[in-house]
Amino acid sequence: MTDSPALPDGPWPRLLPGWVWLCGAGPGDPGLLTLHGLNALRQAEVVVYDALVEPAILDWAPGAERLYAGKRGGKPSPKQRDISLRLVELARAGKRVLRLKGGDPFVFGRGGEEAQTLVQHGVPIRIIPGISAGIGGLAYAGIPVTHRDVNQSVTFVTGHDQSGQAPSSLNWQAISDGSQVIVIYMGMKHIARIAAALLDAGRPADEPCAVVTTATTGDQRVLETTLARIERDIDTAGLEPPAVICIGRSVLMRQVLDWQAQAAGEAPRSLDPLGRGRPAESA
Ligand code: SAH
Repeated sequence: MTDSPALPDGPWPRLLPGWVWLCGAGPGDPGLLTLHGLNALRQAEVVVYDALVEPAILDWAPGAERLYAGKRGGKPSPKQRDISLRLVELARAGKRVLRLKGGDPFVFGRGGEEAQTLVQHGVPIRIIPGISAGIGGLAYAGIPVTHRDVNQSVTFVTGHDQSGQAPSSLNWQAISDGSQVIVIYMGMKHIARIAAALLDAGRPADEPCAVVTTATTGDQRVLETTLARIERDIDTAGLEPPAVICIGRSVLMRQVLDWQAQAAGEAPRSLDPLGRGRPAESA
């Protein structure tokens, strides 16, 4: 149990009885929680949290009742509607409720659905954004989700739909044609199909890819591979979800920006991985 960190002098919003705050906890590293998130933890009477929320963060709400609402692919988990209705119930019982979700609550986290149900039931809400795994998780792997020499756009994609199937509504040809860099959430289960669809759509077999698992935690692992080899390499490395998968040349930037390896004493593998032959900031 860690002491709850101090909050800078306010004023901070008050979490009133009967309210639900939906808050992103970030991808793992407790330091990536926002100050609004910390303020919420300090006031909450009940914290309803997901599987992907780091336990250390919950320790910052020592007085609060903890309700687990984990949803992990494939395992039995509470139904989304039940979670939303539980939040309504708690609010109606006059609790100060914090709904804590991994990453950002509005990025592939069903936070939008929960918030909608709450509003439909007349429950007042506040949304506290968080650092999403597809941005912050990649940053911890040394991969900038945009870089002027690589991409002016990025596409965030989910690898499976509500039923756990590969999302049939996705037009992989359009995604392939229109996306300089593709970041896939929940992509591990269907990576073979996703990679095949992108290759069919014309993405190069040797396109750089990275798989970052349990990003920003002490167990973070990073695999660098290519589109043609990604499935086999994930298998060989024995990587497990949760993972964010980045497809595109941004992955090459890790050769210069793998700051965790550098902090551990390794030299950068390259200072100019894109072969621009000029200082990064010229022109
Ligand atoms: N709202 C979350 C995403 C929830 S969907 C966010 O904004 O980050 C769950 C998926 O998020 C996981 O399957 C995985 O793809 C990704 N994810 C969440 N935390 C992660 C982490 N620490 N490392 C790698 N991927 C993570």
